[in-house]
Amino acid sequence: MNLQSPLTTAGHIYKLYARRLEKLEIKTFEDFLYHIPSRYADFSLISKINRVQVGEVVTIQGTVSEITNEFTKNFKRLQKAEITDDSGSIEVVWFNQPYLTKVIHVQDKISLSGEITWFSRKLVMQSPEYEIIYNLPTIHTGRLVPIYPETRGISSKWLRRQVYRLIQEYLNTFIEYLPDSTIANHSLIAINKAIEQIHFPQTLADAEKSRQRLAFDELFLLQLSGLERKMNWNRNLAGNPYSVNKFKNEIAKFLNKLPFTLTNAQKRVLEEIFKDLAMAKPMNRLLEGDVGSGKTVVSAITMFLSHLNGFQSVLMAPTEILAQQHFKTVSQLLTPFKINIGIATGSQKTKINDFDVLIGTHAVLEKGINFEKLGLVVIDEQQRFGVEQRAIIRSKGKNPHLLTMTATPIPRTIALTLYGDLDLSVLDQMPIGRKQIKTWLVPPKKRNGAYSWIEKQIKDIKSQAFIVCPFIEESETMQTVKAANNEFENLKGNVFKNLNVGLLHGKMKAKEKEKVLEKFRNGKTDILVATPIVEVGIDIPNAAIIVIEAADRFGLAQLHQLRGRVGRGDKQSYCLLFTESTSLQTLERLKAMEKHNVGSELAELDLQLRGPGEIYGTAQHGRKMLKIASFSDFELIKKVRKEAEKLFPNLKNYPKLLEKLKTVNLKQVSPD
Ligand code: ADP
Ligand code: MG
Repeated sequence: MNLQSPLTTAGHIYKLYARRLEKLEIKTFEDFLYHIPSRYADFSLISKINRVQVGEVVTIQGTVSEITNEFTKNFKRLQKAEITDDSGSIEVVWFNQPYLTKVIHVQDKISLSGEITWFSRKLVMQSPEYEIIYNLPTIHTGRLVPIYPETRGISSKWLRRQVYRLIQEYLNTFIEYLPDSTIANHSLIAINKAIEQIHFPQTLADAEKSRQRLAFDELFLLQLSGLERKMNWNRNLAGNPYSVNKFKNEIAKFLNKLPFTLTNAQKRVLEEIFKDLAMAKPMNRLLEGDVGSGKTVVSAITMFLSHLNGFQSVLMAPTEILAQQHFKTVSQLLTPFKINIGIATGSQKTKINDFDVLIGTHAVLEKGINFEKLGLVVIDEQQRFGVEQRAIIRSKGKNPHLLTMTATPIPRTIALTLYGDLDLSVLDQMPIGRKQIKTWLVPPKKRNGAYSWIEKQIKDIKSQAFIVCPFIEESETMQTVKAANNEFENLKGNVFKNLNVGLLHGKMKAKEKEKVLEKFRNGKTDILVATPIVEVGIDIPNAAIIVIEAADRFGLAQLHQLRGRVGRGDKQSYCLLFTESTSLQTLERLKAMEKHNVGSELAELDLQLRGPGEIYGTAQHGRKMLKIASFSDFELIKKVRKEAEKLFPNLKNYPKLLEKLKTVNLKQVSPD
């Protein structure tokens, strides 16, 4: 076994926990070491028993002189122990942890960290963290103790034990890979020291130094691998340069036919794209734009130009629903110009051998599909696709141009680091005339009022509403579907008896989904109850209300994505966030949705506010973009880019760095 071994090849216990650990992004033993504490509990004050004071959080160390299970007056279980050191004795109490009497024995040497309180008119230590002292230094008590991001069934205490053991066993196998000059110039500490001290620091200052080193490495390696990809791309010179000027008139005709004028941002972005397309090397551009900023039409114009140049285009979207929607939108825009549009999804394949533009899900990658002259690949919601899928679709043409699109808000400096190989265009402007979506956090007691209000809106101004069911599991399991079904029955049968209510979830057949959406699009359904799959890209301009159930389970950026399903037409739109949570922190976090309307601001806030308890906030985002470094580390990000650009591409002298870089490239799936 080594650090890179997958856990699934290791002992029984890891196999058993593999799925849970995967939620924490721990798949190999090394991943434990890179599972960074979210904070430290300060148990470093070690006190003699006769010196402890009420209100203090301290560590005491002594011998167990007694331990018993008792019942309180109201039949709750209580565990009591007496601990003695050379200065005196103190009582320790826990509640409802009867197993403690099996793991803690009289005569054990024990270390306990916790708060001193009054209990039954005695000074006691209440519900402390405990650890039997063997010859080891203590790891759960008597020091700064790391608290990790947890998940159900995986506690910080368990993680701490794994990390400690791995550090004992493997720390000396961590070889320094950064060049000496880099380490010196940026006053970094050694890698093995950083790994040890991020978990078990003597002081918070040590922990911070370790974090700085690891954050530096994370960004540095990402930046280098981006530069490497860019170099490989540019080597690939034989692209298909498009003529742009020659088709000015056709493009103008197209723009005249649009029911709206392009925003200045859309115009600027199109210029950036056209410039790339005219070059001898293929375009590799990321188009970033907040939900509703109008990326689709930009891609349609790009595909139009591709067609004028005699090349085919393909547009790939992550879900069937979205592919169908794009097919409709793009068909409307392009068929008047005699452009042949095909579709390829799991359930529908038409014109796949005779198309100018092909739209679909990853079904477009299938072997049977015939690309004659592919010149442009567009990937919508690019973060949902892996590097591999992107490579396969590009291989269907001869170095086709690549346009990837995302609504994931990433500040520019960070995008340049994370996607060092891509050129970036940003749609930083919304179409004119959009009204800001009014967002309200609705407390449970106002739920019925909210329902009546929705019914009135629907009847009075012919509005339509989405009701998004709670998100339960990371992927859409039967449990989520069942919850949606129940919600649907309840709303249809009890709450909105006089309205047409529809249901949409991920386990429905594609045809069925399409039917449901079509009815909603045509206004035959008033309310669409849906699982969070509506998150991605759906565009139904007449829907002006969205209700999000159990809003506390979502991250702010994701709430923003969901909210973006409305506010797409000229109606005033509303977003109602329902939550049962009473945590002030959570309520405050959700309140931010009332104030902020810009995706990137919410993403920043998410990062700042996300306490260790907010497991859900991160879990459903799948892979996090950065594990250690933070978006708000602008200074560090700049420093790192400089350093990487200084060294690159002459990395030959640093074989260990090159080797490390390989492992990064292997891990690099789509960062999201
Ligand atoms: P996203 O960037 O989230 O993919 P879409 O491309 O789906 O957004 O566009 C959202 C809506 O805005 C669509 O209904 C589209 O027709 C409309 N739209 C796009 N550009 C403009 C514009 N310049 N003016 C007005 N409406 C626009
Ligand atoms: Mg879109």
